[in-house]
Amino acid sequence: MAAIPKVTLNSGKTIPIVGLGTWKSKPGEVETAVKAAIDAGYRHIDCALAYQNETEVGDAIQTKINEGVVKREDLFVTSKNGKGLFPKDEAGKFIYSDDDYVDTWKSMEKIQQEGLARSIGVSNFNEHQIDRIIKECSIPPANNQVESHPYLTNEKLLNFCKSRGVSMTAYSPLGSPDRPWATANDPVVMEDPKLKEIAKRLDRSTAQVLIRYQIQRGVIVVPKSVTPSRIESNFKVFDFELSDDDMQAIGALNRDVRGCHLNWVSDHKYWPFRKDYSE
Ligand code: NDP
Repeated sequence: MAAIPKVTLNSGKTIPIVGLGTWKSKPGEVETAVKAAIDAGYRHIDCALAYQNETEVGDAIQTKINEGVVKREDLFVTSKNGKGLFPKDEAGKFIYSDDDYVDTWKSMEKIQQEGLARSIGVSNFNEHQIDRIIKECSIPPANNQVESHPYLTNEKLLNFCKSRGVSMTAYSPLGSPDRPWATANDPVVMEDPKLKEIAKRLDRSTAQVLIRYQIQRGVIVVPKSVTPSRIESNFKVFDFELSDDDMQAIGALNRDVRGCHLNWVSDHKYWPFRKDYSE
């Protein structure tokens, strides 16, 4: 199997540029999905405690290690969230922590220093938050995982991250059509006529075009699927290229439409998507 292109992180470690997303993958499905992904060549799995399926992801990885298909050191496994899930008060409102994310980061630095994680990163951080971490802490984030697809290219944030030596991972790269709060009026990235036209011309799927778009921007990308045939085809993105014209046309589709807006916590002082953010 050909070597998978990797991105070198500021921690000195490398991360395969394409990984498997696992949010919304049901415990009964994710084990098959992770096994299919490892068989197809994936060496990067994107997980989180909040996805409530990490035990099954771990079982699948263990099976593939036991079968001799892969070694643990060949796999990049991302996890997120430390404490319990999302506590709510009696009125159903989220109970916020008073913790400053800079203090949280300092605890994460200890995790890396103790060898419990090889690289540490952030997710959904804006420019201001990343700069605070860089200024006030000793280990810079190795990665910022944020939403990115043609309707929310996040170009400004990408350029900022590049300028700070922080890699970026695109989550929801296919537009997250299965996000639980999607409505019938929301734009559907994979249905975009321009993307479909490019895919047809190149004899590729729209998903492959979306994944390839991120790779050519130097962005790590974690498409989710529980369908083995899609898991396989989403990884067949290293044998074709998008032209400069196609890259530009895809970038021009940006409309700053966020699927994972987290609006239900928009009154949190660290909600990162406020225009005038300065916390
Ligand atoms: P994606 O943009 O990856 O879209 C997933 C959806 O696309 C699923 O419905 C899947 O269906 C479908 N799909 C996958 N491949 C194809 C294909 N080839 N053709 C047609 N449809 C396809 O959405 P996610 O929001 O899941 O994002 C990806 C990952 O990013 C997450 O799973 C998670 O790991 C991470 N993430 C991180 C967040 C964070 O805050 N840090 C937030 C959101 C996501 P099916 O599974 O049925 O095949």
